[in-house]
Amino acid sequence: MARKTLVLAEARDGGLRHVSYEAIAAGKKVADGGEVVAVLCGDNIASLAQSLGHYGADRILTVENENLKNYTPDGYKQAMMQVIDSEKPEAIVMGHTAIGKDLSAGIASRLNCGLISDVTGIDADGELAFIRPVYAGKAFEKKRIKDGIVFITIRPNNIEALEKDESKEAVVNAFDVVVKDLRTIVKDIVKKTTSGVDLSEAKVIVSGGRGVKSAEGFEPLKELADVLGGAVGASRGACDAGYCDYSMQIGQTGKVVTPDLYIACGISGAIQHLAGMSNSKVIVAINKDPEANIFNVADYGIVGDLFEVVPLLTKYFKEV
Ligand code: FAD
Repeated sequence: MARKTLVLAEARDGGLRHVSYEAIAAGKKVADGGEVVAVLCGDNIASLAQSLGHYGADRILTVENENLKNYTPDGYKQAMMQVIDSEKPEAIVMGHTAIGKDLSAGIASRLNCGLISDVTGIDADGELAFIRPVYAGKAFEKKRIKDGIVFITIRPNNIEALEKDESKEAVVNAFDVVVKDLRTIVKDIVKKTTSGVDLSEAKVIVSGGRGVKSAEGFEPLKELADVLGGAVGASRGACDAGYCDYSMQIGQTGKVVTPDLYIACGISGAIQHLAGMSNSKVIVAINKDPEANIFNVADYGIVGDLFEVVPLLTKYFKEV
């Protein structure tokens, strides 16, 4: 059944977040031959729009307004509701990002429709169904929306973006919105990531736990992450001990990540940590305790001292 599908694209630091392209790929499946309309909100973002067409959007709406320069729940909700009222989509797809999580709930409640969040797979062969993790990643459930708008958020790094095709041009239209009486004003954005790579979208994550022993102990991990073009994450144990910032925490009460490669260094593998990383494609664990629970989810385990093993890995990857 063809569905007109609205996809939220996210701009950041002068570029588009990769999850925007993944959301278009998801939108294509949901649309089932219907039109996929990407919506890009912000200020001065029109130049980014066309690449959404290269990744499969049929039409792009740029929603520019000085009050949309930074994300605010009320500003974006006002803008998106005006787009939704005008476009009347049958489906909506957003990334399961900080913005998508916040905005989707607000919009679903305004539209009085269902919402399936944190989708990691789409079964579009028969009756459309969505796969998502439950019980902190221990099991997966399959859900359907039987009635009304099909509204989902997708977990970054799980649904593959379509191949870029620069010959594909999409129609780009400016969509005027009125955004006013904001109750939230962003005064300043303080960035706390340790490298330029966004943890939730990183393909490689080198993560440290209490075994890292100090803030300085993270240095070898940062070097390895740099060589691999990855980001540095942490367990709550390391954050609680003051070795690193909470923005790096991975797990049930931190970020949920699904990189291609997750290297856990000095992390015991508590269930709350596994909830945030156990769906990574390849897991490497470095721990000096051969009984550590992290080895139960690891594809490759190295029993040893991380301060010896990590520099050796860095040296090796620098050479190859
Ligand atoms: P530890 O359990 O102390 O493990 C340290 C590991 O380092 C050990 O296995 C040790 O063998 C190894 N080690 C020590 N020295 C070395 C060395 N030189 N070389 C190699 N290995 C070494 N935790 C999270 O991570 N994320 C969450 O989101 C989270 N949410 C929580 C929510 C709740 C409600 C609760 C109750 C807990 C939560 N926790 C979370 C905490 C979780 O239960 C664990 O306490 C925490 O994950 C432990 O961190 P850790 O593995 O770094 O430390």
